[in-house]
Amino acid sequence: MTKMGVDPEQLRAPQPQPAGWYKLKFVGFNPTAGKKDPNSVNYNGTFEVLNPATPSPTGQPVRMYATMSNKMPRHINDIVHGLGFSLEPDGELPGQWIADPAAPDDVTKMQYKGPLLGKTMEAELAETEYNGNKRNELRQVRCNVPGCAQKHPDIRHQTDMIGKKKP
Ligand SMILES: [Zn+2]
Repeated sequence: MTKMGVDPEQLRAPQPQPAGWYKLKFVGFNPTAGKKDPNSVNYNGTFEVLNPATPSPTGQPVRMYATMSNKMPRHINDIVHGLGFSLEPDGELPGQWIADPAAPDDVTKMQYKGPLLGKTMEAELAETEYNGNKRNELRQVRCNVPGCAQKHPDIRHQTDMIGKKKP
């Protein structure tokens, strides 16, 4: 008899990586509107962990997500610097956003076209828990902007992006 079904390995929830430094490749944004404040945007950056300590059981790339709320501008700045770019003087991300002509104001349909795509950064991941699920979050990102301290003397990069809000 032929059996039909799925590979049970593929049902396993992804396990977070042990805390430590990793090389992450930026693969895209998946923007959503903030739930409480209609003017807030979560860019939802997606990264691939290029050197995972624990490879995924399916052989698929190990992914890591960063909320990147515009309510946390220092997080966004740290990540963009880690990818080797400065924010524009007005605070914009480098690159363009292509809106859906049918819904030009819908942030969830905006497509990012810009130089951050495919770039890599060195980042320290922490293991945290959210709603009972273990996951990785960015603890800090290593700045990759040459001469950052001279170019941006008023910016201090964070060494603990998670802070006190979580244990
Ligand atoms: Zn920097």
